[in-house]
Amino acid sequence: MKTTARLAIFAALSFAGALPAQAQQDPPVTIDTHVDIPFDYMGEPRFDVGHDTRLLVDLGKMERGGLNAAFFVIWVPQHKLDAAGYAKAVKQASQKYDGIGRMLMMYPDRIRLATTPEQLMANHKAGLLSATIEIENAYSLGHDIHRLDAAFDRGARSVGLVHVGNNDLCTSSLPDTEHGEPAMNSAGDKGMSDFGRAVVKRANQLGMMVDISHASDNCVRDALKVSSTPIIASHSGARAVLDHPRNLPDDLLRAIAAKGGVVDAVAYKEFLKKDPGREAAEKKLQNAIAKQAGEKEYDSDSDDYRPEMEAGMAEIQKKYPLATLDDYVKQIRHMVKIAGIDHVGIASDFDGGGGITGWKDASETRNVTAALRRAGFSDADIAKLWGGNLLRVWGEVERHAQH
Ligand SMILES: [Zn+2]
Repeated sequence: MKTTARLAIFAALSFAGALPAQAQQDPPVTIDTHVDIPFDYMGEPRFDVGHDTRLLVDLGKMERGGLNAAFFVIWVPQHKLDAAGYAKAVKQASQKYDGIGRMLMMYPDRIRLATTPEQLMANHKAGLLSATIEIENAYSLGHDIHRLDAAFDRGARSVGLVHVGNNDLCTSSLPDTEHGEPAMNSAGDKGMSDFGRAVVKRANQLGMMVDISHASDNCVRDALKVSSTPIIASHSGARAVLDHPRNLPDDLLRAIAAKGGVVDAVAYKEFLKKDPGREAAEKKLQNAIAKQAGEKEYDSDSDDYRPEMEAGMAEIQKKYPLATLDDYVKQIRHMVKIAGIDHVGIASDFDGGGGITGWKDASETRNVTAALRRAGFSDADIAKLWGGNLLRVWGEVERHAQH
């Protein structure tokens, strides 16, 4: 579809309409570009998102909160770059594709896959939620470029190159320095490998977005050079506002914008507010929970939603409150100032450590819109931030595909 037609679809879904008062205030569409899922997603009843769950994103919370679309993440942790490590990563990724597949099969009257911007808007127009699939850590390709094609066939439309710890594609913003990986921006930080370049080029050909969240500064620079289409950061903040390696410095915010891309500001505690007291208290609680459960170490999938964990976290929240929507909007403002209103988006990182005071789960999504409005953003700005910019980039990436 031509750009004009796509924009027409977007514009046709205006703010007004015969909708309840609250929904009248809703932007044309709301897209959260980073939502994690547990490995046993849709496997155990407690992870069946058709029902009320303790997950921060389930279908009911999206519907009630006015979150129309989410990028569900195929994340795998970084292990060794050897045959056993790759095999495990491939298997773990497959489990997550299966989980998302089960959700789509079980609840077709509530949520549908969106593999194109048009499909996402059509789902929304039909009153359905959208799920888009995003890879986080291309280690799960198992060092085999053909698996990128397979991922595309399974519906993935965005490829996050790296996670915590360097992989076979590029260096990470958080390299594993304890095991000898060179610090970011040190002489040993090599940026992107030949395999990383091949993945970026193949993603361009397939029409997949290249996602540089978690990548080192050098890797971001390489991605900007290698990619023939705009790139995204699916969940990153601004380093000038809060100095954290996962946040992007101003020169990279500018460079991503200059190439037409988008940086989705993320509502993740440590990227918005430095709070060593809270970090220590959380670590202590996690260790206690793991010990009680007889585990070697804390395991988010099995432990995050235990009632005793939730009670402990509520106590911690009283003593060391999380960053607020004001902190979040402050970063968005800075990113808009540096990159421009056409190059910033929104992400939660829910169920992957994300969530702040005021946007603690998907049911509170309208609070974000209200905070942006209070901060002086116009309806047109808010429409861009909540999905307009992302859909533009996605459309451009798609148009350059060669398949
Ligand atoms: Zn992440």
